Amino acid sequence: MKVYNIAIDGPAGAGKSTVAKMAAARLGFVYVDTGSMYRALALYFMRLSIKPGDMSAIGDALAGIDVTLSHRGGEQVVLLNGEDVSQFLRAQEVGDMASAFSPLAPVREKLLFLQRELAERTSVIMDGRDIGTTVLPNADLKIYLTADAKVRAGRRYKELLERGAECDEEEILKGILARDAQDMEREISPLRQAQDAVLLDASYMTVDEVVSFIVNLARERCGL
Ligand code: C5P
Repeated sequence: MKVYNIAIDGPAGAGKSTVAKMAAARLGFVYVDTGSMYRALALYFMRLSIKPGDMSAIGDALAGIDVTLSHRGGEQVVLLNGEDVSQFLRAQEVGDMASAFSPLAPVREKLLFLQRELAERTSVIMDGRDIGTTVLPNADLKIYLTADAKVRAGRRYKELLERGAECDEEEILKGILARDAQDMEREISPLRQAQDAVLLDASYMTVDEVVSFIVNLARERCGL
């Protein structure tokens, strides 16, 4: 059976995972959240108190880490050496540490291999920062999904309020801008739009509009 690959890249908080998950369900593809793989590695390092500058400890630790994506009840779960760590990965500090460790070559190499392997075996919608540029340069469809930073911060603020968390919208905006800068300015595989990616600014689009746009384009490109 032919395997299709769709890449969705973009900055933090643009809604990539929400729309990628929904589009994958509609297309019957597997959704692969590469950010959660970076988050799982960061969690592992955090548990061992390994800092981003400690290259020798990072190298040693990487050799003993197994990150696997599995699916339970339609949801992606992340297994770190067999332990389901999904519930720990969304914390703000884990995201910030993922961003701090993600510029490192050995970290990226390890995940690049795993991500390519996943996409070879099965039709995927993979989201991240470097999927269209590095991980899947021959993807059938590449989307660069972005939204105004203030809109992204506003959405995250609402989400956190709904969950009953205490937060400050200005602080969230600062965090988003810092993460964008770190991801765009790193040397290896920085976040940028692939030359052949379709730019989608979702600032004033609903989730359903974004999903339908991607699904229609995917069907056209993949001949489905
Ligand atoms: O998308 P998410 O916020 O879960 O990603 C966490 C961090 O992991 C990002 O800020 C980025 O530094 C890193 N990442 C990456 N390449 C990817 C996916 C995520 O560098 N393909």
